[in-house]
Amino acid sequence: MQRLFGTFGVRGISNVELTPKLAFELGLALATHLRGRGEVAVGRDNRTSSEMLENAVTAGLTSGGCNAVLVGLVPTPVLSFAIKRFRCVAGVMITASHNPPQYNGVKFWGSDGAGMNREQEVKIEKIISKKAWKRAPWHGIGRVSRSDAIMPYMDAVLGKVPRVGRKLKVVVDCANAAGSVVTPRLLTELGCQVISMNCQLDGTFPGRFPEPSPQNLTELMKTVVACKADFGVAHDGDADRTLIVDERGQLLTGDRVFALAALHHLRNKKRPKVVTTVATSMVLGDVAEKLGGKVVRLGVGEPVVVEYIRRYGGDIGGEENGGVIYPDWLLCRDGIMTAVEIVKLLDSSGMKVSDLDATLPKYFQFKQKVECPEKSKSKVAAAVAKQFKGYRIDRIGGLRVITEDGWLLLRASGTEPIFRCFAEAKSEERAKELAKLGMHAIKKAGG
Ligand code: MG
Repeated sequence: MQRLFGTFGVRGISNVELTPKLAFELGLALATHLRGRGEVAVGRDNRTSSEMLENAVTAGLTSGGCNAVLVGLVPTPVLSFAIKRFRCVAGVMITASHNPPQYNGVKFWGSDGAGMNREQEVKIEKIISKKAWKRAPWHGIGRVSRSDAIMPYMDAVLGKVPRVGRKLKVVVDCANAAGSVVTPRLLTELGCQVISMNCQLDGTFPGRFPEPSPQNLTELMKTVVACKADFGVAHDGDADRTLIVDERGQLLTGDRVFALAALHHLRNKKRPKVVTTVATSMVLGDVAEKLGGKVVRLGVGEPVVVEYIRRYGGDIGGEENGGVIYPDWLLCRDGIMTAVEIVKLLDSSGMKVSDLDATLPKYFQFKQKVECPEKSKSKVAAAVAKQFKGYRIDRIGGLRVITEDGWLLLRASGTEPIFRCFAEAKSEERAKELAKLGMHAIKKAGG
């Protein structure tokens, strides 16, 4: 059976790999899985292919007997919100998040507003590979309706979070993508002075690439300083992730954004549980300790974090890439809520972003990778592990070597033909040393 779903749903080049035919089959297979009943929320980003794919998915869903509730152009967290608000049995989001403009993706969501897990995806893959879908009879074909989810989403946030008292100037960079329809307006309504940048919708992404990497955010860093703003917000293409630029134009890593958001979000929680992955900075452990709680570390990827929270609970979840989940709000990463949490943190503390960041311990990280074909990955992983006998190791999500002053994570990528090496330590020199040790071990293992 062909595996269609990757870590973030079905992804591919629009109209080449991800065709209207495939999108139709995905919609029909989802409807079959749902036994042709219930309302399914459908959202999309502003890529050039998104409306075409929305039409195809909708045709599939209704052909299979489900009703489609089109919420139109929305960030991913708004789709998650809409599923719950409109009591849908499932959701479909059409987006390729941070990928370049020629890509697109289809991702399925459950009735709880969380991404579908692998088990459910396998069931849908089976329906497609066996062409085991069921079309509804003429009188059972689903209906299509349109609903606005953006205003209800904004009202819900504004109902939860009071307006800020402090005058804050914020530069918001949405990469000309889906975040543009919510974040600038929401932060303005919260009482911030917003300077929008790359917030005109354009599916060719002329302003910058939708991945919020340091090289794609140089203009934002300059603009924050030039405008004397308090901070800058950068979303990825579907605004489920956020990175922050401080008032000096320095970009904070995703782990530190997560740590600051946690500081504010969990301020009144007793013994909070912070759920994250083995690839996130030690700073999350420091924050959990500061709040009198604990940190749980899991294998890499949003689905792993969401599944844990679903089963065992957790007060906040997140990753090193700036994706944060607020389980008392949505079971989906919400970059818009992260921007709101940072605004509230600045408002309540009266501090600057750089000063807040300086209250957390400083760590140094090195991230490297080596090409490694799929078939060699397990052999390399075993040979790497042999070289760390006698060290304190953890096998969750790869090989994590824990030392007195840092850690080293060696793992095969789940989506690309590469082997990764992450190192973190309290000094730059030590982090470099650990990374070197890791890279040496991978190369010696034949990677
Ligand atoms: Mg995203």
